[in-house]
Amino acid sequence: MTLTQLRQQFLSGQSTPTQALESLASAIAERDSQTKAYISYNLEEALQAAAKADLSKPLGGLPIAIKDNINTFGQPCTCGSKFLAKNYTSPYDATVIRKLKEAGAIPFGRMNMDEFAMGSATENSAIQLTRNPRDPERIAGGSSGGSAASVADLTAYAALGSDTGGSIRQPASHCGIVGLKPSYGRVSRYGVVAFASSLDQIGPLTQSVDDAALLLQTIAGYDHLDSTSVNLPVPDYSATINDGVKGLRLGIPAEYFADGIHPGVRENVEKCIQLLESQGAEIIKLSLPYTSHVVATYYVIAPAEASSNLSRFDGIRYGNRATGASDIIDVYHQSREQGFGAEVKRRIILGTYVLSSGYYDAYYTRAQKVRKLITRDFTQAFEKVDAILSPVTPTPARRIGVCSENPLEDYLADIFTIAANLAGIPAISVPCGTTAFDGAPALPVGIQIMAPNFGEAMMLRVAKAVEATA
Ligand code: GLN
Repeated sequence: MTLTQLRQQFLSGQSTPTQALESLASAIAERDSQTKAYISYNLEEALQAAAKADLSKPLGGLPIAIKDNINTFGQPCTCGSKFLAKNYTSPYDATVIRKLKEAGAIPFGRMNMDEFAMGSATENSAIQLTRNPRDPERIAGGSSGGSAASVADLTAYAALGSDTGGSIRQPASHCGIVGLKPSYGRVSRYGVVAFASSLDQIGPLTQSVDDAALLLQTIAGYDHLDSTSVNLPVPDYSATINDGVKGLRLGIPAEYFADGIHPGVRENVEKCIQLLESQGAEIIKLSLPYTSHVVATYYVIAPAEASSNLSRFDGIRYGNRATGASDIIDVYHQSREQGFGAEVKRRIILGTYVLSSGYYDAYYTRAQKVRKLITRDFTQAFEKVDAILSPVTPTPARRIGVCSENPLEDYLADIFTIAANLAGIPAISVPCGTTAFDGAPALPVGIQIMAPNFGEAMMLRVAKAVEATA
């Protein structure tokens, strides 16, 4: 059941928020021991909120699963890390949580993720591995793997995740659901544990495009607590979502259909584009020439920002503190040595290196310049088209274990999702079919729709047309 359907049931009296939570709890008990999407949940607290739910509010009584890096008052917030797994409880609500609560929703469940959102498979979670509900031998994707898997496994109606380089769209694509990354500045980042502050955005993972619009409508908007949030009015997304693609110009970037993408991914995405064309969209071939530089640019900028953001985890202020250290410096060293996993350490080392004097200009400054050129690619493209279509990932969900064996391969698979973060534009992943892959008969494939800055309304409109054809 989608959020929209569940809300109808509440309003017509066919179901109640308490019943909805109870049915989630039994679905979790039945299936989550295999999928492992939930790190934790507090049913009692949620049931108390359900008993008081105000159904007149837009999300009255609807339970929403939350990625475990978004602070929710009184709940744990592990970020998938040993550093925060034992002794951290959020002392405040992130702005998105405050907005959900004000709209009547019930944040329910803390969803698994790659440690500090670094990864693409939840294989970097220090807590557990999340399996793909469509095929348990496969990754759910990441880093918002728990959020995506729970929605696909019907142990959650909808979820929030965070996307720094694809972490909402890629797991949504792998699990066969909808995942939306808003424009940078559209949604407040206050209260999400920062990975790379110039790239991070919070967004919805849902079963339908309408649900994605509904959640975005709730969480979007200016917030004085996030100086990068933008003070622009939030349009009514539902007003234009059913307008269809007739007359729209949809761009197809050659670089996103190059060799190396799995033929089943290509076929499904191309078939979807043809269907949109048959509905009256104009398909325009274009080029985004800096695409070949996006992975390298991201893997300088994101680790640089991460190394700075993660310096706050020092054993003094948050979470893990080493015992038996000889002095304060040793507390820092040992707490960080014990608390962080291998991938997080790799990023801190990489980020510290590219920011160190002597290398700063050669790597960090250079990457910032290339980021400008990548952004310019999109600005120029959006002079000619209303939205851009592409695959979300080069392959469907890989087998568990493949990614953690080869981190570089894992980084390269981010090629289609990263540019939207570097350019700050909104992007959504919508299911567009299934394909056989690597011994699996039918794995989900997603199509990505990218739109100009703050063009979420246009993007959702195309997404809705895709959903209707797929
Ligand atoms: N896979 C990318 C990374 O590991 C993206 C992560 C994200 O969007 N949080 O950095």
